[in-house]
Amino acid sequence: MVIIRRSLAAALACVLLLVGAGCRTGGVVRTVPSDVLTHTVAVGDTLSKISRAYCIGVDEIILANNLDRIELQPGRVLRLPGGRKPIAKPALPVEQPVAKPTASVDGCPDYAAPRSTWAIQAIDAGNIDPMGGTPWRITVHHSGDASDARDEVVTALRRIEQQHKLGAGKNEPFACIGYHFIISSDGRIWEGRPLQYQGAHATGDNNKGNIGICLLGNFDTQNVPVAQRDRLYWLLERLCADYGISASNIVGHNHFKTTDCPGRHLEPLVLGFAHGSR
Ligand SMILES: [Zn+2]
Repeated sequence: MVIIRRSLAAALACVLLLVGAGCRTGGVVRTVPSDVLTHTVAVGDTLSKISRAYCIGVDEIILANNLDRIELQPGRVLRLPGGRKPIAKPALPVEQPVAKPTASVDGCPDYAAPRSTWAIQAIDAGNIDPMGGTPWRITVHHSGDASDARDEVVTALRRIEQQHKLGAGKNEPFACIGYHFIISSDGRIWEGRPLQYQGAHATGDNNKGNIGICLLGNFDTQNVPVAQRDRLYWLLERLCADYGISASNIVGHNHFKTTDCPGRHLEPLVLGFAHGSR
């Protein structure tokens, strides 16, 4: 009676094990049909591995093959009554190159002080174009006023925005400051015109897809402070990475027109970066 109970318990455990493993083939099959599955033992095979592959209990494999030890000899053909053919694993899909995602042009990047921290004038929404896609080039300027490097930054930014909105010396008033980013002498980056808008710094169609960066100061007469220079390099690298911009598409303002901008001390820094010789 005890032996029968143990056998029943063992059989039940086996069924539960197989059901739990997702196998429909359970139970104890003792009769071996002529078309029984076979498996040729390969190097590294174990009973449990074969059991899982064919969805058949280890005990059944042992019983059907009169195995007296666990070790399997490679090359031996095992009969697997009640087992089922392993389902071939689908081939892994070939990894496709994924285009580098570009950063959104919406919202102020976290590395810049938002224009809300300094601006007191609203953007003229009726006089501004959307960036209309991922920026693909960068133009560097200086503000051209030596006092911008000495005055309090907020004062300088408001002064420049006022000039741009009035259109002094320009064909028409701008919606707001024309540059997307301004770098102060101490190396801080300030948001000017939000990147979602096309800039107003390189004349007409030259503004399309063109991020405008302005360094405060007159770099015809002043040297570029190290902090300001290093931050320019940092920002150029960051923008190139974020938007997939080629360094060769970085120019100074005088690339587009005859002007002193970005100044004789700043221009070689810009060209050096663009040509990888900085
Ligand atoms: Zn300029």
